[in-house]
Order: sequence, then C-alpha cells, then structure tokens
Amino acid sequence: MEKVMVFAPHPDDDMIGCGGSMAHHVRQGDQVSIVYMTSGEAGSIDCQPGVLAACREDEAMRAAAGLQIEDLIFLRYPDGGLEFTPKHLDALVSIIRTRQPDRIYLPHSGDSVSDHEATHRLVMEAIRRAAGPWHPQCGPAPWRVATILGYEVWTPLGTIGSVQDISPYISLKLQALQAHRSQLRSLPYDQAIAGLNRYRGIMTGQGDYCECFQLIRARL
Ligand SMILES: [Zn+2]
Repeated sequence: MEKVMVFAPHPDDDMIGCGGSMAHHVRQGDQVSIVYMTSGEAGSIDCQPGVLAACREDEAMRAAAGLQIEDLIFLRYPDGGLEFTPKHLDALVSIIRTRQPDRIYLPHSGDSVSDHEATHRLVMEAIRRAAGPWHPQCGPAPWRVATILGYEVWTPLGTIGSVQDISPYISLKLQALQAHRSQLRSLPYDQAIAGLNRYRGIMTGQGDYCECFQLIRARL
C-alpha cells in the first residue's frame, strides 16, 4: 500500500493531470489524498469569488468522491496570485511530514500557468525541506518522498518520463472532470483531455488511453 498525495493549484487540475492514475491507485488499495492550493475563485467573471470558491470546492469533492477519494485539503490561497512565501512553505512541509506520502504528483516544471508554476516551485522546495533536519516548526521528523511525478494540464510535456495506462478508468475520469460544471460551461475541456490521453496512448503504445508524466524522482 502506497500513500499518494496530489497537489493541485486549482480544483480540476488534479483530475486533468492524473485522474486516471488516482483511480488506478485507489483500485490498487493505495491511500490517495489531494491538496488544493487555491479554490479557483478567479475561474469565472460571472460569479462572485466567494460563491465560486464554495462552488468549486463542492465540485472538487464530487469529482473526488466519484473516484472514492475523500481525503481533501483546501489551503485556500489566492487564485491567480499564488506566491513563493515562507508561510506557504511551512504549511506544505508540515503536511508532508505529517502525512508522510510515498509518492507525490504535482504540475510539471514546464507548466506555463503562473499558479501551476508557483505550485511546482513551492512543492518541490517543501519536499526538499521536509527531508532535512531543519524547520522544527513544521514537525519533528524529517520525511523523504520516494517518487515524484509531474503531470500535464495545459502545457503538454515535450519529454515523457513515465506512462500510466488509464484505459480501464477513462470513463471514471471523464465523469470526474464533468463534475467541474462551472468550468466546462466556458470551455469543454473534458473532450480535450480525453483527446490528449488518447494521443498519449497511441503514441506511447502503452494502452488506449494514457497519462504521461515528467519523472522527477523514482523509488530506488
Ligand atoms: Zn489550474
């Protein structure tokens, strides 16, 4: 049994990037938790930010529930303004030391969306800090994460380091994506992501539908 932790800049990035892989982990009996850096309150101009944040958290819970994932953490940092601060780093180091994940998924290092780029930098630095004998305010025991994978959202990877066949879970993944109704209204990206996963499946030859990852660290 592995402890898996997914870091999502916004509610929906988790499902877009690794929804099929999360379903696979659950099927294997792994423990999956998701950390949402922001609640995506800037994701529409038709809705008040507070209302939209609550709506998107609800959508995230529904999407995750479809994959039988209930362990969700909402950090509620500002959407569109995620910054690399000591306070954010301390919070992330505390989460990693407390939860002790074996495997972490996060946006890959070349993702061009600012909150995604900030999430990558924050989580990578928190992983580094969590492993060392420093920052006692974040928990007494260091923790080293064995496997780190960068997922694709809106910036497809140029080089693939790891492939997961998600063919058995593609329907579940699409249902989970469709739970994000507030976002699909303006952009039907569920079909775009199905297309990306199909493209990855054909081009890697690993299955009908695949998720691809940047391999940042693998268990030795
Ligand atoms: Zn996002």
